[in-house]
Amino acid sequence: MTWPAPVRLTPRVTLVGSGSLGFGLTDAHDSHVYLLDGVTDAVLVDAGCGLASARIAANVRACLGARPVSRIYLTHAHADHAGGAADLAEQLGATVLALAPAAAIVATADEEASGLRTARQAGVYPEGLRPAPVPVTPADPGDVAVGKVTLEVHPTPGHAAGHCCFSVRDAGTRTLFSGDLVFSRGRVAVLATADSDLRELDRSLRAMAALAPDVLLPGHGTPVLREAHTHLQTAVSHLDRAELPPGLLS
Ligand SMILES: [Zn+2]
Repeated sequence: MTWPAPVRLTPRVTLVGSGSLGFGLTDAHDSHVYLLDGVTDAVLVDAGCGLASARIAANVRACLGARPVSRIYLTHAHADHAGGAADLAEQLGATVLALAPAAAIVATADEEASGLRTARQAGVYPEGLRPAPVPVTPADPGDVAVGKVTLEVHPTPGHAAGHCCFSVRDAGTRTLFSGDLVFSRGRVAVLATADSDLRELDRSLRAMAALAPDVLLPGHGTPVLREAHTHLQTAVSHLDRAELPPGLLS
């Protein structure tokens, strides 16, 4: 079969992995995997589930040629985002980073703590999805350089413990990588897991809305390429009425 090509979303960001809740570029269970190209350095945001890591790595090489990816930043430890971290780190020669406690869950491939065992039993993931342990460097909140751009790490618990969003400000445009905190049209993903927390989700959503992003690059679904702040504001207006915003699949 012919695989779809990577999708350039902004001058700096290309979608190199995406599952059935997105563009269907790679394995159906993959989250979006974004390549952020800072010219003299490049990083990935999220790693997909691990069932199509070779395809994601090929997409990265198609974008960068011989230039390397130095780091893989994970928004959180769920298998659709982090299951491919070990494979991709090896194939790309990159370091994996995540916030504690997501870092420890990915480092030990802890299927209980990541919710993978329960999700697999529920038929969400196939039997063959078995993430491998991988060394993970704990990420620090704040700014890190990615070549010519600055990536900001924002701790944003609520969907899962150790969840973080990333933002980039470049040429007057603020881009928010929101993981599973918030999606287009202000939708959210609240799970029946021990580390899903509505109060934290409320706080995290308001903090990211205050950044007033122009571009919203979520973990699944439609990327928003302009006036993204209106989508976050939709979520906040639900919270202001003490309502939960609509779910991702609605
Ligand atoms: Zn998730």
